[in-house]
Amino acid sequence: MIPRFTALAVLLLLGASPAGAATSQPWAWPLQHHTVDERFDPPASPYGAGHRGVDIAANAGDAVRAVAAGRVSFAGQVGGTGVLTIDHGSERSTYQPVRARVSVGDAVRRGQVVGTLLGTPSHCVDACLHLGRLIGEDYRDPLDLLGGGRFRLISPHGTPPPPPVGTGGDLVRPVGGPITSPYGMRVHPVTRARKLHDGTDFGVPCGTPVHAAASGTVVARSYRGAYGRQIVIRHRSGFETSYSHLSVQSVAMGARVTSGEVIGRSGTTGLSTGCHLHFMVVRSGKPVNPQDFL
Ligand SMILES: [Zn+2]
Ligand SMILES: [Zn+2]
Repeated sequence: MIPRFTALAVLLLLGASPAGAATSQPWAWPLQHHTVDERFDPPASPYGAGHRGVDIAANAGDAVRAVAAGRVSFAGQVGGTGVLTIDHGSERSTYQPVRARVSVGDAVRRGQVVGTLLGTPSHCVDACLHLGRLIGEDYRDPLDLLGGGRFRLISPHGTPPPPPVGTGGDLVRPVGGPITSPYGMRVHPVTRARKLHDGTDFGVPCGTPVHAAASGTVVARSYRGAYGRQIVIRHRSGFETSYSHLSVQSVAMGARVTSGEVIGRSGTTGLSTGCHLHFMVVRSGKPVNPQDFL
């Protein structure tokens, strides 16, 4: 009777959450290891290239656990790969390559062992779990829900290049490249409105590593309207820098970063005419000219 009762309770909880709303509950790590091999890199189009999840390094045979309570909606093979999907109500988690230890329709608890990690087929050098997060048909970054700053990143692309050298100010340049639009009043290239350009634009190709201008704490990691994918770092009380139009955000909310550390890659997300970095310095809540600090 107890398992039946638990399943009913889970159903009632799922029924109570508003349809379409994102689950704000943090996820539990599906594996003992918290080492991210390859980050989320959302494709530009539904069929575009990209990485629709995160890869977590592990060993074949490791137990794979449910990231949250839910109900198994798929357990089987997709193109020769063992795949498990758990429906959490407003979103789903996917796990591959795994051999499922649960069946479609089973209610699962957060942290319950739901599968065994397989060694093949793997798109990592060694075994890894590809964890996906879906809201409807949209892929989201699982790291947004997997505890901020508590994982270690190992890059499959080698050591990141050294940060650009600063010019004597307090901050180091977040990228190389020319300044294509300075801070100040201008006619906006997209909206044609005359308004303050609240940061400095650096012209760099999409995918260029972006470095923290100083050490600090990641206080925002979001998609923010015209700014697109944005990272905000607080360096001290009332002094922050932000990095906008990113293609990839590679630090978690709450993470401590050191000066020059790679925090993401440049892009053209949000209201943007092309690949560039929009870099802002915000003092006491107001944008100021970044070039005064570089
Ligand atoms: Zn993957
Ligand atoms: Zn700009």
